[in-house]
Amino acid sequence: MARYTGAVCRLCRREGQKLFLKGERCYTGKCALARRAYAPGQHGQGRKKSSEYGLQLRAKQRARRYYGVLEKQFSHYFDLATKIKEGKTGENLLSLLESRLDNVIYRLGWAGSRPEARQLVVHNHFLVNGKKTNIPSILVKDGDVITLSESSKKSPKFKNIIESGTSKPVPKWLELDMNKLEAKKLNKPERADIDLEVEETLIVELYSK
Ligand code: SF4
Repeated sequence: MARYTGAVCRLCRREGQKLFLKGERCYTGKCALARRAYAPGQHGQGRKKSSEYGLQLRAKQRARRYYGVLEKQFSHYFDLATKIKEGKTGENLLSLLESRLDNVIYRLGWAGSRPEARQLVVHNHFLVNGKKTNIPSILVKDGDVITLSESSKKSPKFKNIIESGTSKPVPKWLELDMNKLEAKKLNKPERADIDLEVEETLIVELYSK
């Protein structure tokens, strides 16, 4: 299945929730969800009642779109989550998604949105444990160190971040040294650290059918 290339605000309207796919715009009155808080399309303002399956499907789609993950990749993460012995499968699933390199870059405030973070990773701006990495889906492990490449420090985007700092608070499972533009993953993100409004148990129910 190809990556979605349409208007991303439609995805937020479909999910009835901000997915923060457009950076700064998402925090302003220009946010499409603030102006049209109903699903897109001809029947967007119609029937609201959902079946049990509908609710499970929406929970899965919301999480998938929030992290910008394709269907097949998402079910792969679910398989990985089921193999983790400790904790609940749904929470482990979100923890895995949260550990993706593009999400970590976003959480560090080095990108305005996850799609932007993905693009920055693909363009080779970062090193993981000293090695250039351009795969957004790589899972950052505890203790891994992420740095900005020397050449990227000169780019206007990152110069701005270096001079003014990041505008977002960094989650407690990450440690950021702004002077060196170096970050470390301290531990696994817990459910309380993840601000995604989704009932992950519904996703587990969907995949358990
Ligand atoms: Fe979603 Fe951001 Fe568009 Fe608002 S502006 S609908 S949060 S992508």
